[in-house]
Amino acid sequence: MTTSVSKKMRLFGLQHLDRIPQIRQLSEEQIFATRVVASVLPFRVNNYVLDELIDWSNIPRDPIFQLTFMQKDMLEPKHFSRMADLIKAKAPKHEINQAANEIRLELNPHPAGQLSANVPEMNNQSVPGVQHKYRETCLVFPSSGQTCFSYCTFCFRWPQFVGLQDFKFTTDEANQFLNYIEQKKEITDILVTGGDPLIMSASRLSAYLEPLLRPEFDHVRSIRLGTKVLGYWPYRFITDRDADELLRLFQKLADSGKHLAFMAHFNHPRELETDAVQQAVSRLRNTGLQIRTQSPILKHINDDPEVWSSMWQKQVEMGMIPYYMFVERDTGPRQYFEIPLVRTWRLYQRAIQKVSGLARTVRGPSMSCLPGKVCVEGIAEINSQKLFVLSMLQGRNPDWVKRPFFAAYDESAVWLDDLRPAFGEKEFFFEAELQKLLRKDAGQSTPKAPALENRRLSS
Ligand code: SF4
Repeated sequence: MTTSVSKKMRLFGLQHLDRIPQIRQLSEEQIFATRVVASVLPFRVNNYVLDELIDWSNIPRDPIFQLTFMQKDMLEPKHFSRMADLIKAKAPKHEINQAANEIRLELNPHPAGQLSANVPEMNNQSVPGVQHKYRETCLVFPSSGQTCFSYCTFCFRWPQFVGLQDFKFTTDEANQFLNYIEQKKEITDILVTGGDPLIMSASRLSAYLEPLLRPEFDHVRSIRLGTKVLGYWPYRFITDRDADELLRLFQKLADSGKHLAFMAHFNHPRELETDAVQQAVSRLRNTGLQIRTQSPILKHINDDPEVWSSMWQKQVEMGMIPYYMFVERDTGPRQYFEIPLVRTWRLYQRAIQKVSGLARTVRGPSMSCLPGKVCVEGIAEINSQKLFVLSMLQGRNPDWVKRPFFAAYDESAVWLDDLRPAFGEKEFFFEAELQKLLRKDAGQSTPKAPALENRRLSS
């Protein structure tokens, strides 16, 4: 491994498309499509992704290109034409923004009850920037960490990055999340997420994390950072101005006796190949933190067992722990990336069969939906009836976790909503209790969000 040279980050958004050095390799049609889709969904790419990850000789099929550049079919035809017509007609900005917002509201901006059922209350007020869905784990969205080093085209947090203010999660200036966590002694795990929390400077990140070392937070045993920094900007830990300060912060947290973990988001083995990422992983591991890896399974990017098995194998070799394979969530441009559950499970099985036990730590394929994280365990045949075997890896009620349940076989189902209980049952075992839990939450005193969530189990 060679030492990486210093690299200064350059970010390119919709307004800077023409300044991307490689943009001339796209046809006029591709550039226009990018402009149209990026008027609705967030677009941002940096010079590391452009120079070191994308294979420009394989456009548009290259997986990292698909991961970061908009494609026409990421919007439904009716949405694409509406926006394309406005742009061609050089419509005023406010008209384009209004159309974009109307389209965004049709894309299920906050799935899985994120606004209606996951935001807790304290003193009859919502706690800003916090989601608390599972008893022991609390999510925190720091206000300064709500952007990313590049935006993933499939991102389920996309409303954080566009103009939908009612759908943004961020902590407040008073950092009420700390009071909430201090009161809730059942919380053992904090997941700091975004956006990407590593976009913050070392000193800002420290302002969020160091208070958790005080004695009143002794019940918090693990601090996790949900991040794609290793995939998108590994120079954060090598040559960025505060790289060493950041590593010292991690060392301090890891030395405190709490578990410090990166929940590192990698979508393709290409992201593990550069000198920069290898050096960054090595520097991070020297601080004592643990790196666990996760990704959704996505058409056009990683729907190939070979891609997954080589990614997991390489991660193990680099000292990381493969952790989750997710099913693409039911929001944003989901129709472009979705894969039927039957095929998703087969891809997972074929991939996991190729690796040794050390990489079989990956759980999934898992759907993060309203009742919890529902895992497709497999497809079985009972009394000549084909069916899905499911279980929850996490549940709104912890008692639901790891109770196997069954759904009728359906070749085209892509999400839990599409599945029906097997054996002629009317509903899954948790549904009645789920409704009760949601009614209880709805009785909270603060109105949570516009009523956009009308699907049965996913949102
Ligand atoms: S890094 Fe994470 S939050 Fe940011 S765009 Fe990608 S998936 Fe979304």
